[in-house]
Amino acid sequence: MERKKIKALALFSGGLDSVLAIKLMEKQGIEVIALNFVSYFFGGKNEKAEKMANQLGVQLEYIDFKTRHLEVVKEPVYGRGKNMNPCIDCHSLMFKVAGELLEKYEADFIISGEVLGQRPMSQNSQALERVKELSGMGDYLVRPLSAKLLPISKPEELGWINRELLLDIEGRSRKYQMELTEEYGIVDYPSPGGGCLLTDIDYSKKLSVFEEDEMLENEFNYLFNLTKIARMFRFGEKKYVFVGRDNEGNHKVMEYQEKADHIIRAFDTPGPVIGLFGDFQEEEIELACKFFSRYSKVKGKEVVSLLLDNQKKTISTIDVEEIEGLMREYQKIDKKRRNLIFNKR
Ligand code: SF4
Repeated sequence: MERKKIKALALFSGGLDSVLAIKLMEKQGIEVIALNFVSYFFGGKNEKAEKMANQLGVQLEYIDFKTRHLEVVKEPVYGRGKNMNPCIDCHSLMFKVAGELLEKYEADFIISGEVLGQRPMSQNSQALERVKELSGMGDYLVRPLSAKLLPISKPEELGWINRELLLDIEGRSRKYQMELTEEYGIVDYPSPGGGCLLTDIDYSKKLSVFEEDEMLENEFNYLFNLTKIARMFRFGEKKYVFVGRDNEGNHKVMEYQEKADHIIRAFDTPGPVIGLFGDFQEEEIELACKFFSRYSKVKGKEVVSLLLDNQKKTISTIDVEEIEGLMREYQKIDKKRRNLIFNKR
């Protein structure tokens, strides 16, 4: 009887290392399906990953694991990196979910583009072992780029893949990977890094505000999305104002109007869409209207008419300096300042 073709599922960001890991498998005649994980903070339909998958000739599947991923962001077993990134738990979860999909895709094992020592905290040998354990995927997890430096995996032991044809890359330099792209004729690969908002310092600070306010929950995911695209002001505990920066931002705020407690938008003077989320006092709503005036075409220097919850409202000229000062205060997100502002209210 002809032996079934061995198949692997690959964690696939579209980045160089995940591309090379797939290439190494293909060279051994292993069929690969690329899984691109989608969370609130990374992944999702993207042209680059699709182009790379096309170039490699592999099937690309988007795997939405937002809810489960948010749980590990909130309570990671192995803690977070420099920012809100729970890399060990995040990788483990990807492997775990991929493991649950093996049957669906009739695949035999899982690969990733992890490189030993590439990230000092999350890709040292101890971290890689932790990922293996926490994911529950044990020996069915292969890191082709560093495999020769790691304990032998089941697919190698069973002869599904030849360990000798795997690599022994270690460390942060990508020189060898670059050489391999030439050898394999891979072109237009995306530059390394980027893509995960949890490693972004400013975004992480804002998320930590939601965490402190106990809003880092699935039901409030619109806040995480607005934070990506609109200016954020925190007026107090669980009180956020999002101001669209451009058309895209304005549309996003409007998209969440059902979730908002108040919406401010232009009437006759062009200006941003502003969403107020939380239990606001009259004077705070008034202040948000002044924010509109400041960000409008007349920059607070003329009387403006706007729509507050669809009712026309007129705002006189504002003291621009004072309003800008308040904006800076409400935008400050470091803990000490935040508490100061909050205690004032
Ligand atoms: S950088 Fe982001 S996507 Fe990558 S493992 Fe860390 S948390 Fe997950």
